[in-house]
Amino acid sequence: MSDGRIPVAILGATGNVGQRFIELLEDHPWFRVAELAASDRSAGRKYRDATEWRLGASMPESVADLPVLDLNADLQSPIAFSGLPGDVAGEVEQRLAKSGLAVLSNTSVHRMDPYVPLLNPEVNPDHVDAIKLQQEKRGWSGFIATNANCSTIHLVLTLKPLQDAFGLEAAVVSTLQAVSGAGYPGVPSLDMIDNVVPFIRTEEEKMAEESRKILGGFEAGKGFVDAEFVLSAHCNRVPVRDGHTETASVRLTNTATPEEVIQVFQSFRGIPQELGLPSAPPQPIVVRHEENRPQPQLDRNTSKGMVSVVGRVRECPVMGLKYVLLGHNTVRGAAGASILNAELFREKGLLPV
Ligand code: NAP
Repeated sequence: MSDGRIPVAILGATGNVGQRFIELLEDHPWFRVAELAASDRSAGRKYRDATEWRLGASMPESVADLPVLDLNADLQSPIAFSGLPGDVAGEVEQRLAKSGLAVLSNTSVHRMDPYVPLLNPEVNPDHVDAIKLQQEKRGWSGFIATNANCSTIHLVLTLKPLQDAFGLEAAVVSTLQAVSGAGYPGVPSLDMIDNVVPFIRTEEEKMAEESRKILGGFEAGKGFVDAEFVLSAHCNRVPVRDGHTETASVRLTNTATPEEVIQVFQSFRGIPQELGLPSAPPQPIVVRHEENRPQPQLDRNTSKGMVSVVGRVRECPVMGLKYVLLGHNTVRGAAGASILNAELFREKGLLPV
């Protein structure tokens, strides 16, 4: 039934990210969940029968009786939010973009495509200009836009104001990543309890290349131009349910005191705040001043999970500056980021509606 909101489809609707999309879109003022798709294991069943709901509140009644479609279904919605695994997303997302849909994807497969924006609206809103080029080059009437991987999204939110205020030369980052970042069922519990796994396949490479793309520019005749800074990442899986913690040591071009850096973090605002987008947090970075924060259990839901929470800003004897950051991996690190991207596209008049 139409209520004036734009109907949207969710691909991978039964998964971790898919469920988060459904939760975040339940009362969205602009978008209404109208279609759900997942694998052949789920297709043909009602959403309530196909899905083991793993979020806090109950499954929204508005989606419980929707049929789960397979990925070949002829979608009627003009927007598709994708939480598909990388190995199935590529062809599906391209087909939908070709047929006129706006595809907002969490998947890694198109992130480094030279015509696909890797958006983080407070950081690189100008990258939406790549859509026109993408449509020209690919002959698509719709488009694909992606968000970065969950660790990168939160890291670049904190690097952007530093880059603007002081210049950015290098960063060394160690992550402590939650188990929900690995999908469901993800890492076996026997590998995770009482343990840290110091390896997440391709994650370190993604953090380095995605950060440079996001913090770089987009030039009409030239395409994306990477930011000129180097990043070394160490990625670890830890026994935390939700919320990725990252410790960052950063070399700036112009030295700054911890007090100046805190001031820059706290005053940082972007286009989502200026436009008052529905999912935009009041401020994208929240600074904690206690000596032992942020912590995932206490801080991951700050501002409904849409911010990066920073703490322990201090001098680093090697790199100059160091701090801790924490962000919710399936909210701002995934579904929430895609929804904010869609809101930006709507404000720019770029949605096919
Ligand atoms: P997940 O919990 O494993 O969910 C995967 C979803 O994809 C399920 O709906 C599943 O449907 C569907 N699916 C799996 N194989 C399929 C196939 N062959 N054909 C069609 N549908 C298929 O994974 P997730 O954590 O939500 O992650 C989804 C995507 O988001 C991944 O690309 C991941 O890298 C990315 N991402 C995840 C996070 C995070 O924190 N979790 C953050 C950023 C990005 P069935 O239930 O029917 O099998």
